[in-house]
Amino acid sequence: MITATRSKISPGRLLIDGQWAQGAGKFDTINPATGEVLTQIAEASPGDVDRAVEAARRAFDDRAGPWRKMSASERGRLIWRLADLVEANIDELAELETLDNGKPIFESRYVDLPMVIDVLRYFAGWATKIHGETVNAFETAFTYTLREPVGVVGLIVPWNFPLLLASWKLGPALACGNTIVLKPAEQTPLTTLRFGELAIEAGVPAGVLNIVTGGPETGKAIVRHAGIDKIAFTGSTAVGKEIMRGAAETLKRVTLELGGKSPNIVFADADIDNAVKGAINGIFYGKGEVCNAGSRLFIESKVQDEFLDKLVARAQKMKPADPLDPKTRMGAIVSHAQMQDVLDYIETGKKEGARLIAGGRRVSVDGSRGFFIEPTIFSSVTNDMKIAQEEIFGPVLAALSFDDIDQVVELANRNPYGLAAAVWTRDVKKAHSVSRQLKAGTVWINTYGLMDAALPFGGYKSSGFGRELGMHAIEHYTELKTVWLNF
Ligand code: NAD
Repeated sequence: MITATRSKISPGRLLIDGQWAQGAGKFDTINPATGEVLTQIAEASPGDVDRAVEAARRAFDDRAGPWRKMSASERGRLIWRLADLVEANIDELAELETLDNGKPIFESRYVDLPMVIDVLRYFAGWATKIHGETVNAFETAFTYTLREPVGVVGLIVPWNFPLLLASWKLGPALACGNTIVLKPAEQTPLTTLRFGELAIEAGVPAGVLNIVTGGPETGKAIVRHAGIDKIAFTGSTAVGKEIMRGAAETLKRVTLELGGKSPNIVFADADIDNAVKGAINGIFYGKGEVCNAGSRLFIESKVQDEFLDKLVARAQKMKPADPLDPKTRMGAIVSHAQMQDVLDYIETGKKEGARLIAGGRRVSVDGSRGFFIEPTIFSSVTNDMKIAQEEIFGPVLAALSFDDIDQVVELANRNPYGLAAAVWTRDVKKAHSVSRQLKAGTVWINTYGLMDAALPFGGYKSSGFGRELGMHAIEHYTELKTVWLNF
């Protein structure tokens, strides 16, 4: 039997101006491991979004209010306190994330949540390190710059790493002194709502963090709203384009973290066993619902057969199982719709003439009606096939082969996306040379998927623009002002 919820989950409400409120509508949030309703969530209408923006505006514009009066050091301590509260409630948050998203508890408890804490602490440290500069351009004037918060920021987050991706935005937004209207994805609102409770407990002043739950219509109301100064969005490239168009109306600042189809390149001189592990981790971690998934695997022809044999053997051991079981490494696909999309891509791969060498089917776990798909591998893929060009966002790997460096660089770059890439080789020169030639925001050498709060993350090309994490995130949550004083 799939493990059921340990305690009843309360219905989700909206957080507006420090108070929990009903929304105009309601929707269900589903446990993808069972297909059953976990609880009901408030759906924010444009009117609810108006109220959230007004609260955020008031908290930001009131220069004598608690938020604007807070020193940078106090803001830093507040963010740190939030991190402490997340840490104190880590088991509950991890369980909620797994129930709502279907990801293995091993991932939520030991990867997502620890990184949320780390990201918050990293940006807590930044609060006191944001400054302008004096510029000695004239003897007859005093000129300097100020780095000011942008204002009210609208944060729109997807379902694959719900609280983690929210923290990438919340950390710098708070550190820089902005106020926030945050929308989690409709599939996975639970951890964000619990985080809202922790924010109140930590002492975040009313109106500084507002949470509006809902789907695309709620998101559109945020993007359109004239009272919002910046949108930070993570999600699909199609919606990213729509957001950019929508934000143009009010000339909002926009940063976009979008999709990917990342090439994972294995040269014949690599440590093959390590590269196999890296390829498995690169595509099947997070059920492949990972923006930087290594979904295009390029193997040098000389080692292709050996590599694929080892890869398939490992993939077949990764059986989909109860996400709440600590031993599980392959959980449930987030929703029925997403599962159907992935299954459609598997059919497309077969029709395109790729060879299905592992998985390929929906499976039932312990008789449940959950949304499980076997780890799936296609070989004999060519770069022009749909399964090699489009983001599948599920546990499906497209394996291609190559013969030399120029060819693989050309193939790897011949794709609209440019989020991440990896290179496996024992040759240091080759590793660095290929890294420079790849059009990707992150390149891993002899590893896959490493992330840290201190290292910027973001895309080239259709994977978006702007960087999250690291010091560069601060630039996107501040405006630069120049002040002249003429002697
Ligand atoms: P999505 O674009 O469908 O939705 C993302 C968020 O946008 C959700 O909160 C959704 O409600 C909202 N939304 C949908 N339509 C909207 C609209 N018209 N206006 C405003 N908001 C709208 O994406 P998804 O299916 O939730 O997530 C998967 C996508 O996210 C994948 O493409 C993946 O690669 C990408 N992603 C990127 C990164 C990154 O860092 N680059 C990280 C994780 C996920």
